[in-house]
Amino acid sequence: MRFVVTAGPTQEPIDPVRYLTNRSSGRMGFAIAEAALKAGHEVTLISGRVNLEPPAGAKFVSVTTSDDMYRAVHAHIAGCDVLVMCAAVADYRPAQYSEHKIKKGSGRVTLELTPTRDILASLPRDRKFLVIGFAAETNDVEKHARKKLQDKKLDLIVANDVSRPDVGMESADNEVTILFSDGKTETIARTSKKIIAYELVKIISNLKKNV
Ligand code: C5P
Repeated sequence: MRFVVTAGPTQEPIDPVRYLTNRSSGRMGFAIAEAALKAGHEVTLISGRVNLEPPAGAKFVSVTTSDDMYRAVHAHIAGCDVLVMCAAVADYRPAQYSEHKIKKGSGRVTLELTPTRDILASLPRDRKFLVIGFAAETNDVEKHARKKLQDKKLDLIVANDVSRPDVGMESADNEVTILFSDGKTETIARTSKKIIAYELVKIISNLKKNV
């Protein structure tokens, strides 16, 4: 199968030296890319800026902003079998980019934000590939993830609680609940992201067989 996996955070520039980002380390997406390669799949890994070595054998595409990631996903999904949107794409970016460094003053500064383009929501509805989303939540994890699964017309969503200090963003471990489009759920208790990635690739490969 041909996997396209996205990973890491995006950076949304404010001025030439500042940007908005999030705490995504990229580890979950890189682990999925590696697990898919080990299972014999072809992998394109599209990643925001992270401190990780891309797995050997993956086609690696490095991006910075949410717009870069949007374009890279659309450029690489033709003919793929699975898109795994593991990246923590910014939901908002500065409404205006300042060409010059914003000067420090003594008063408050207000930064106006505008929504980014939602990559998952922009995918064709009549697609022939599986689409897997991720949901990083701090409360009512399953409820919010189920809504995203339905709104974004996903085949499966992987939800995790990012309010916990021991798992999720920046951690080597994770604990996830997988929600399927038929209403089924499955939980993988706390373990390394590498093991979760291996299990996810297995689940995704089985889904494909049933399509
Ligand atoms: O709505 P929310 O951002 O929480 O949804 C998370 C899922 O949507 C993730 O799979 C993420 O990669 C994807 N996403 C996207 N485009 C965005 C923001 C998030 O595809 N602009």
